[in-house]
Amino acid sequence: MELTKAGNFSEWYSKMMLEAGIVDIRYPVKGMPVYMGWGFRAMDLIFRQLEELLDRAGHDKLLFPIAIPESVFNKEAEHIKGFADEVLWVTHGGLTPLEDKLVLRPTSETAMYPMFALWIRSHGDLPIKVYQTTTVYRHETKATRPLMRGREVYWNEAHTAHATYEEAVAQVEEGINIYADLYTKLCIPFVVTKRPDHDKFPGADYTYAFDTIMPDGKTLQIGTVHNLGTNFSKPYDVKYSDAKGEMQYASQTSYGVSMRALAAVISVHGDSKGLKFPFDISPIQIVFVPIYSKGNNNEVDAQLKPIYERLSKQFRCIYDGSDRRPGDKFYRWELKGVPIRIEAGARDLSEGKVTVVDRNGTKQQVPMPDIDAQLKKIVEAYHEKLRSDAQAFFDSHIFEANSLKELLEQIDEKRGIIKAGWCGSLECADKLKGQTIAILGKERGVEKERKCVVCGRNGWEALLAKTY
Ligand SMILES: [Zn+2]
Repeated sequence: MELTKAGNFSEWYSKMMLEAGIVDIRYPVKGMPVYMGWGFRAMDLIFRQLEELLDRAGHDKLLFPIAIPESVFNKEAEHIKGFADEVLWVTHGGLTPLEDKLVLRPTSETAMYPMFALWIRSHGDLPIKVYQTTTVYRHETKATRPLMRGREVYWNEAHTAHATYEEAVAQVEEGINIYADLYTKLCIPFVVTKRPDHDKFPGADYTYAFDTIMPDGKTLQIGTVHNLGTNFSKPYDVKYSDAKGEMQYASQTSYGVSMRALAAVISVHGDSKGLKFPFDISPIQIVFVPIYSKGNNNEVDAQLKPIYERLSKQFRCIYDGSDRRPGDKFYRWELKGVPIRIEAGARDLSEGKVTVVDRNGTKQQVPMPDIDAQLKKIVEAYHEKLRSDAQAFFDSHIFEANSLKELLEQIDEKRGIIKAGWCGSLECADKLKGQTIAILGKERGVEKERKCVVCGRNGWEALLAKTY
């Protein structure tokens, strides 16, 4: 039987990781896989898209050290509490125990903000908006899964400091807009919710999170944006003198997107043949497959290669002139998710045409002089279908429940995000957690009164799901 992502997502996903050359999980540290060439290139291209958006919004790219002294890490109480059971420690230098142990950053608030304190003097130094694309470390005890949950996480984290709380609120909006732009480019549908208090970032005033729905109906959190208020600036002394010369604490935000963006692209767009990459983040954008027959290789190459060479100046192209059969070549490049294939044999070429096939299987013959002009339209149509297919799946996996019974039936049978009432109590949240259902929170921009599905008390509409 054919392995499909709808039929057995877990097995399909593992197969894709290995066969498409994304990660190799055989590295001997749990949760720290090797990113292979194809996978890392795609991930890097995703982060370059994100960096471009951050740059355009005035962020500076920098790089902080991996280690944070225990004495510095321990200054913000809620933050330590949130990360205490999962930080990795460096305890020795050679054979000598370190006096001040070092934490491998689980996130970089506590690394960056003592330095912000040195950089900021007056309100003229604000705002600060920076980011880094790097690794963070969390000693996950739950089952790890490549690109979804690991002990080494590759991500992009942004950090900001502002003169007022209002500016931090506005910065949260900017962060949300940047991530919405990123996922729109990646053709990934998402929902944004305000996480309930028990699930916000440790040390934040509030957290907004992006979730998408995976093929098995569980949601994957693919980005978070936090308003930190003055919760970190106070212990880390991030302050400035205002116009009157009085010292004020800065208001701060942080936000991050991890390698899960790639997990989402692979899972949401892939099919039984393999991956489907959006054009801009595919390591190879166009594969040329010459169709040889009766040893006419030179003749075919002589006509097709000039097109390859011309398009290579603009796009990431490959010319697969190997001895493999055309069908084997199609199979290989479809598995890897290359969005566009240009193929031609002697007859097509003598008629002045090539065949352009996108990874959705849409095929058309294009006269050679028209290729450059047609390509843009073909890529647009390819993205349009990626987006509409993904959105159709997403929309068909959102349900409503008016009782706990209904909720449990829906979540097991239909799988996806359930809209249901919640009173806001931890007690009811825990009861749902006992059924492995998480409260994603209130959907951004949606205020609806509803009775709690657990206790029946007054509450509001929340999004609930089984999550990765
Ligand atoms: Zn309740």
